[in-house]
Amino acid sequence: MTLLQDFSLSELTDFLTANYQVKPFVAKQIFAWLYKSADFDAMTDVSKTLREQLSASCVAVSAKIVKTLSSQTDGTQKFLFELQDGNVVEGVLMSYKYGNTLCVSSQVGCRMGCKFCASTLGGLVRNLSAGEILGQVLAVNALKEGKERHVTNIVLMGSGEPLDNFDNVVKFLRLVSAPEGINVSLRNVSLSTCGIVPKIRELAQMDLPVNLTLSLHNPDNEERKQIMPVANAYSVEETMDACRYYFERTGRRINVEYTLIDGQNDSYAHALKLASLLRGMSAHVNVIALNPVKETGLKGTSEKNLKRFLQYLEKQGVSATRRRTMGQDIEGACGQLRRRYLEEKNGN
Ligand code: SAH
Repeated sequence: MTLLQDFSLSELTDFLTANYQVKPFVAKQIFAWLYKSADFDAMTDVSKTLREQLSASCVAVSAKIVKTLSSQTDGTQKFLFELQDGNVVEGVLMSYKYGNTLCVSSQVGCRMGCKFCASTLGGLVRNLSAGEILGQVLAVNALKEGKERHVTNIVLMGSGEPLDNFDNVVKFLRLVSAPEGINVSLRNVSLSTCGIVPKIRELAQMDLPVNLTLSLHNPDNEERKQIMPVANAYSVEETMDACRYYFERTGRRINVEYTLIDGQNDSYAHALKLASLLRGMSAHVNVIALNPVKETGLKGTSEKNLKRFLQYLEKQGVSATRRRTMGQDIEGACGQLRRRYLEEKNGN
């Protein structure tokens, strides 16, 4: 099956002309429907014969919302998207004063093996295609009829490691920012990585002004190896060098994610080491308490210690804020909703 949301307008036009002898204006109509996340039967200005032909070998909607949870406290919504092969991934929509941020997934599962993360527990199932990442955005936009730009900001922070699915993620970035599509400014898009150094450097060279977020979680190499296997491949020093390079090339300030795990990375010594690692760098630290995942046995830092850690950083002159935890009542961390859904489906 060909996923039509994988195509740019010109690729779609070429594909439809070559395979179905479709005129360019019809391709344009179909493209508009795809961006409304409409299935073939809704494409009322396209001939029935063509719609039938297309539905036999193509997929119009690459990510369908099959479950929605809404937070009672802050309006955050969690979505479970079903892909055409039956796999599911999750996304979160958060509303802020300046707009709506959607967190999307880039892979089904993940192979990075971070000890605190639910997404990686079952390993990597498969990469998402560019259209499947885009499809999550289009499906959420379609919830607000007539508002194709309901989602104003996007973070690649759902399940998966975006830099482990590099080509498809880069293609997604091009599709989502294309003027003939939804034209989201890449300055409003953030890509979060556990730190695949050569890929950070490669991304820096692509002239895509996307914000880079580094999931650091520990400034000490040996300790970081205990929670993030990627640290065996790249030291924190090499990783920060790649981030500095990213900043030089793109002018985008680096965001550093720091998830506090009780008794593991929340001491004064950790704050000092983190500060010295970031000295002279244009970076901002987002501090968050670990969202406990039952399978991991790890505990989040207490409220008191989180505040203390933030004060340590401030004293060192590090720009740092606490990342607001939203939608706590609807499902905790990254990958947990999908796991629960699969467990329920399998009758566990
Ligand atoms: N693979 C990418 C993006 C997906 S994870 C990355 O590593 O950045 C998105 C963010 O959520 C990362 O910062 C990750 O470390 C963090 N995260 C994962 N599980 C978490 C949990 N249980 N509590 C708090 N943050 C978590």
